[in-house]
Amino acid sequence: MNWIKNFIKPKIKSLFKKKSSDSKDALWATCECKNLIYKEDLFKNLSVCPTCGSHHKLTPDERFKIFFDKQQYEILEVPLPKDDPLNFKDTKKYTERLKKAREQTKQSDAIVIAKGKLNGIDVTVGAQNFSFIGGSLGAAAGEAFIHGIQNSIDNKNPFIFF
Ligand SMILES: [Zn+2]
Repeated sequence: MNWIKNFIKPKIKSLFKKKSSDSKDALWATCECKNLIYKEDLFKNLSVCPTCGSHHKLTPDERFKIFFDKQQYEILEVPLPKDDPLNFKDTKKYTERLKKAREQTKQSDAIVIAKGKLNGIDVTVGAQNFSFIGGSLGAAAGEAFIHGIQNSIDNKNPFIFF
């Protein structure tokens, strides 16, 4: 029954693919090994596919929940410079890309800085979100990175960046 294998199965897979790993609210994720994974199970396994061992992307929030003691951390407010000083445009205006990324990620820019404890030691941690324009390194990301390092210097604690 080749038509089942060649037509029906790919159609079903494409349905799952569009609605699972692309949507933040979906309960299931797809993996490159073609398995469906319950997102909660994937998170409990540190975002590593239990079948093939492939590492899936983590948002900064997911990263921090895995990394900090008891999932306890505080997001630091970082300076937000002017959005688009170069008035940059490729196929879209950069300001439009920023607006969409902010809506999708609920972040002001690609890098998030947090403080908390790791094995009881105070640490400052930064994480870049690939879902924010591919982790775009603009002026705001640079400011956030510097702010995180300054927080570490001021508090004499380690700075860890993902
Ligand atoms: Zn897999």
